[in-house]
Amino acid sequence: MVKIHGRCDLACDYCYMYEHADQSWKRRPPAMTADVGRRLSDRIAEHVRHHRLTEIRVILHGGEPLLAGVDGITRLVDGIRAAVNGAAAVRFAIQTNGVRLDRAFLECLRALGVSVGVSLDGGVAEHNGHRRFAHGGASFPRVAAALELLRSPPYREIYGGILCTVDLRNDPLEVYHGLLAFDPPLIDLRPPHGNWAFPPPGRVPGDPATPYADWLMAVFEEWYGAPTRSTGIRLFDSIIQMLLGGPSDTEDIGLTRTGAVVIDTDGSIQASDVLKTTRPGGPETGLSVLTHTFDDALAAPAIRAEQRSPATVPGPCRGCEVVAVCGGGLHAHRFHPTAGFDRPSVYCPDLLRLISHVRDRVRADLARLPAAT
Ligand code: SF4
Repeated sequence: MVKIHGRCDLACDYCYMYEHADQSWKRRPPAMTADVGRRLSDRIAEHVRHHRLTEIRVILHGGEPLLAGVDGITRLVDGIRAAVNGAAAVRFAIQTNGVRLDRAFLECLRALGVSVGVSLDGGVAEHNGHRRFAHGGASFPRVAAALELLRSPPYREIYGGILCTVDLRNDPLEVYHGLLAFDPPLIDLRPPHGNWAFPPPGRVPGDPATPYADWLMAVFEEWYGAPTRSTGIRLFDSIIQMLLGGPSDTEDIGLTRTGAVVIDTDGSIQASDVLKTTRPGGPETGLSVLTHTFDDALAAPAIRAEQRSPATVPGPCRGCEVVAVCGGGLHAHRFHPTAGFDRPSVYCPDLLRLISHVRDRVRADLARLPAAT
């Protein structure tokens, strides 16, 4: 994940970059320079060659990555592809707030083959509840205009999906249908980031209530029970996939190793940026693409700790009935001020209820399958 630009043109109140424990964005360069981009490209190519990788993913992120402009994005994407020089397929994606996503950006991203994900929290009221400009203005009209373009030919081919942060105060089905109105190929429903030290809204640590599971289950029932389905929901697809023995497609749950690192605008190599919600310097490794390889990064304790596997499951999760699917939840959500990360997710009761519910629904459907003849 490459932070090509470290500032944002929105001021969302739940943002994990600017509104949580880590404030390191203030001392970093606003944008990645061409020189850091070149050093990053060389490091990626070095890693591809050394491990004979056949495919890698690069996600352009921020802040708001479109603030890097058409030229900045083109330079980085072309630079990485040139450095890799065909040794591996490089799949690019960008995650944007959508307010600047106009035809010029879409032409650029389409020409570069960059898949586009847009953040949208539902319909007008739900989205504008959190995702506002610094002056208080609503962002929905511009994001909606961008999504109308993105969903239509010729840009539909680079439409990656919609990322929606859950707000318990919003009606789950209104949010779901607000997102479906833009015909996304994929929806990422994510509870707001938090942990045992800084609990998410409506989540009392240790309380057995399951407000997030209840919210998500309402959407699941609507989605799973639909006669036809053209939109995937990453969390539900991953749970079902894992119940059937496959991998997870989300870092939020599961035991599938991600092998992901974050590169900030100054070239520093970091663990997941969601660790910014745990403490100041939460994602820091002390490494940089200017001086270290990605193998150095994968050996860094902060990055090793978040690689999902049976060995990194928190101790208290080991006897849990859904641990093979849940995996203890997102690493950053396990953080506790005294126990560190050896804790179940702060969302534990929600995860247990949601995963059990999906399992029971799938199990009932499988039981109705005719026996093989
Ligand atoms: S449901 Fe809770 S106890 Fe079970 S694996 Fe997930 S976080 Fe751990």
